[in-house]
Amino acid sequence: HDSPLFASLPGDIDVSFEFFPPKSDRMKEQLWDAIEALAPLGPRFVSVTYGAGGSTRERTHDTVARIARETNLPAAAHLTCVEATKEDIHEVVDAYWDAGVRHIVALRGDPPEKGGTYAAHPGGYANAEELVKGLRERHPFEISVAAYPECHPDSPCAQDDLANLKRKMDAGATRAITQFFFEPDTFFRFRDDAQKFGIDAEIVPGIMPVMNYASVTRMAKMCGTDVPGWMEKLFEGLDDRPEARQLVAATLAAELCRRLYAGGVRKFHFYTLNRAELAYAICHMLGVRPKEKAA
Ligand code: FAD
Repeated sequence: HDSPLFASLPGDIDVSFEFFPPKSDRMKEQLWDAIEALAPLGPRFVSVTYGAGGSTRERTHDTVARIARETNLPAAAHLTCVEATKEDIHEVVDAYWDAGVRHIVALRGDPPEKGGTYAAHPGGYANAEELVKGLRERHPFEISVAAYPECHPDSPCAQDDLANLKRKMDAGATRAITQFFFEPDTFFRFRDDAQKFGIDAEIVPGIMPVMNYASVTRMAKMCGTDVPGWMEKLFEGLDDRPEARQLVAATLAAELCRRLYAGGVRKFHFYTLNRAELAYAICHMLGVRPKEKAA
């Protein structure tokens, strides 16, 4: 009796959606279809990721600038410190500011070669904390940062990782968005620990719908997310049944959100992978309905 039924959820939640910059014209079309489909739900912001090693610098910029120009959705640009001098970063963020973008998701990023050790660029920002400080000095952006309920793989321990998150918040970030996770208790434990640590800013769970079990487990391994044993069982035998798989993925993500809601969570960030339907269905089940003013 601890969780409300979907039908009783009043829709008192805020959502945001994450996209990645498209590589081809076909992918561009898919992205814009997804943005148009999700826009009526009135997300408080939509964000666009930055490719490893800064490889999508132009594409991320073009996508975010187009969202700012052509929709009324608040657009956020992800930005990393990888392979960039401070001057490079300043150039990028000045262009965002000039394009009317007011929100940056500030990240350290990962080494360009998979599995390598991160090394700061000698003329750049060493980590996300420094990047947040640099952005703050440059323009009054709204800044989001990353948080890790299961601890960042480079961090010696959870306490150290929380200390790093606290430094990022103290440097001027307004919210943390979490890496994806699959058990609600993972999030609740982290939220409690962060609060005990004196982090009182909002911590928004990042929700990853499992559209492709194999690729999600691969990603999870790289970023230290635990894939519970029951998940393999849930997706087994569905490789050749994409529609059944979609339904299972939606149910699983909606159930996670429903339990987070029961624990007081009212803000959710969805990793859409540039597809609208799953995120739309989950939002719908959580009581979110189209707002009058769409994009
Ligand atoms: P930081 O917060 O700087 O820290 C990373 C680790 O290093 C932590 O363990 C921290 O404790 C440790 N550390 C940092 N500074 C110090 C210090 N001075 N001394 C000791 N230890 C230190 N990646 C992309 O490439 N593009 C994206 O668009 C992108 N978007 C993301 C969005 C979200 C919501 C999340 C959760 C992650 C995203 N990432 C993205 C992945 C992210 O870049 C990686 O997880 C990266 O390894 C860490 O980035 P960070 O900003 O969390 O780093």
